[in-house]
Amino acid sequence: MKEDLESGKRNNVYTRFPPEPNGYLHIGHAKSIVINFGLADDFNGKTNLRFDDTNPLKEDSEYVEAIKEDVAWLGYNWDGLFFASDYFEEMYSRAILLIKKGKAYVDDLSADEIRQYRGTLTEPGKESPYRNRSIEENLVLFEKMRKGEFENGEKVLRAKIDMSSPNINLRDPVLYRVSHATHHNTGDAWCIYPMYAFAHPLEDAIEGITHSLCTTEFEDQRPLYNWVIEECEMENKPQQIEFGRLGITNTVMSKRKLKQLVDENFVDGWDDPRMPTISGLRRKGYTPESIREFVKETGVSKGSGLVDEAMLEHFVREDLKLKAPRTMGILKPLKVVITNYPEGQSEMLDAEINPEVPEMGVRQIPFSREIYIEQEDFMENPPKKYFRLFPGNEVRLKHAYFIKCEDVIKDADGNIVEIHCTYDPETKSGSGFTGRKVKGTIHWVDANEALPAEFRLYEPLILDNKEDSETVDKEEKTFLDYVNENSLEVLQGFVEPNMKGVQPHDKFQFFRHGYFNVDPKHSNNEKIVFNRIVSLKSSFKL
Ligand code: ATP
Ligand code: MG
Ligand code: MG
Repeated sequence: MKEDLESGKRNNVYTRFPPEPNGYLHIGHAKSIVINFGLADDFNGKTNLRFDDTNPLKEDSEYVEAIKEDVAWLGYNWDGLFFASDYFEEMYSRAILLIKKGKAYVDDLSADEIRQYRGTLTEPGKESPYRNRSIEENLVLFEKMRKGEFENGEKVLRAKIDMSSPNINLRDPVLYRVSHATHHNTGDAWCIYPMYAFAHPLEDAIEGITHSLCTTEFEDQRPLYNWVIEECEMENKPQQIEFGRLGITNTVMSKRKLKQLVDENFVDGWDDPRMPTISGLRRKGYTPESIREFVKETGVSKGSGLVDEAMLEHFVREDLKLKAPRTMGILKPLKVVITNYPEGQSEMLDAEINPEVPEMGVRQIPFSREIYIEQEDFMENPPKKYFRLFPGNEVRLKHAYFIKCEDVIKDADGNIVEIHCTYDPETKSGSGFTGRKVKGTIHWVDANEALPAEFRLYEPLILDNKEDSETVDKEEKTFLDYVNENSLEVLQGFVEPNMKGVQPHDKFQFFRHGYFNVDPKHSNNEKIVFNRIVSLKSSFKL
C-alpha cells in the first residue's frame, strides 16, 4: 500500500471485509477485520462491510445482523455497507458482455461431468462438446436460464479460457449456476446466481476497492480474478493480495463446523462461551481490545499462523489486570464456624478493590461467626507442604483474621459437614500484627450475607487431534470425534454481598480463581451466573 501510494500507482486505499452471511463471525474473521480496517486506517483510507451473499441456500438475515453487531463491537466503523446481491443486475450484464465477446458459453454438462472433464494437475482438461456454441445461441440460452426455464444443475455459464492451463482454476470455470431458491435479500427475483470467483472481483471493482485482501487459499485464483476484471472491462482495477489464515490450537474455525455444533446441540447457540465466535468470546468475557491486540501480535504473513490458545488468553488477562475489580467467591463451599466469635454479631472489613490501582478504592465485606471457604482449602490428612487449613493449623483469611482449625464435624456417613475454628482478634488484616506468621492465605465469604452464584468453568470444546485434519477425514473420523466431554463445569457457590446489582458483562477478578464475566443469558434475580474468562496463571510468554 505504501509503495502503491508513493509510486502514484494508487492515490487512495480502499479495502473491504467481505463475509458470507452463512454463520456468525469467528476469531479468524477478526484477523481479516483488523487487517482490512486497520490498514485502511493507517493510510487514511476507507473500508466497506460487504456481505458476499451469492449462495441463497446457506445465507440468512439473522447472520447479517449478527455480523454487523460483531464488527461494530470489535470497534470498527464501516464506510459503505453493501450486499453482493445488490449487484446481481450489473453482474448479469457483465456476463452478457463476456458471451458477446466469445469469452463465455452455456454448458449442458452435469457438475460431475464438468469435474471429470477438468483434468488433474498432471493431466490437461478436455473441452466440453458445448464449448463452441454460437454467441447467438449462448445469449438465448443464458436468457432462458435467467427466466427459470431450466432446472437446477441443467445448465451453467462457463468462462472460455483454457482447458489445458496448468492452473486448473483457468480451465473454463463456472460463472453462473441455476438455483431455484429464495434469497434473503433479493427474494425470488433470481434463479441464477454468480459463482464466487466471478462475483468477487466484480464486487471489488464496482466499489472501487484498491487492495482486495484475502486468505492464501485464493492465491491460485488470482489469475482468474484478474481475467474477470480485464475481460469484463471494469474501470476500477483492484489488486488481490493474500495473507495467511489464523489458526489456534484446540479451536475449530469454520462456519460450517461451528454451525454443526449449534445445530446438533453440542452448545447452547452461536454465542456459547466455548465457541470461538466473536459473540461466544464476548459472552465468555473477552474485550474488543484484547482480541484486537491478540490479532495484531499474530502478525500478517503468507504463512499459515497456528498460534497457541494460551496467547489469546494472555491478551485478555493483560487487558483486565488493571480494569477488573478484585473480589472473592467460593466455587465449592465448605462451611466454617468460628466458635469464639460472638453469636449474632458481625462486622464490616475493608478490602482494596484493586491493589494495583489504588484509585479504585476499597469495598466493604461482612464477617461473622459462619463463613464459607473452598472445599479444596481444607484437608483432614494433608500431604507435606500443604499450607492451607488442616486440624491444628492456622491460616490467614484474606482481608480478615487468622483462624485455626480445632475440629472436623462429619455426618453419619463420614462426610465432612463443617469445620470448627477459632479466630484471633489481634490478627486483623491491616492492624500491623507481627506476633507470628502463617504460611497460607485463603479466601472466604460470609455465610449469612453471601449471594448465591453459579460459576461456569470452561475447557476447549474440541481437542486437537495429533494428526492434521486431512488424516482425520481419511480415517472417516470427523472433528466431532474430538469433542471434549469436560468442556463445561457448572458449580454452585457464593459471592460477596456487594455483588448485588451487577450487570451482564461486568468483569471481576476472583481471588485465586481468575477473571469472570457476568453471563448475559443465564443471570437472573435469584442467581448471578459467572463465566470464567481465564484463570490467573499461565506459563505463556510472549
Ligand atoms: P469460514 O468457512 O471459516 O467461515 P470463510 O473464508 O468461508 O471462512 P468468509 O465469510 O468468506 O468465511 O470470510 C470473510 C473473510 O474473512 C474472508 O476474506 C476470509 O478470507 C477471512 N477469513 C476467514 N477465516 C479466516 C481466518 N481463519 N484467518 C484469517 N482470515 C479469515
Ligand atoms: Mg468465503
Ligand atoms: Mg466458508
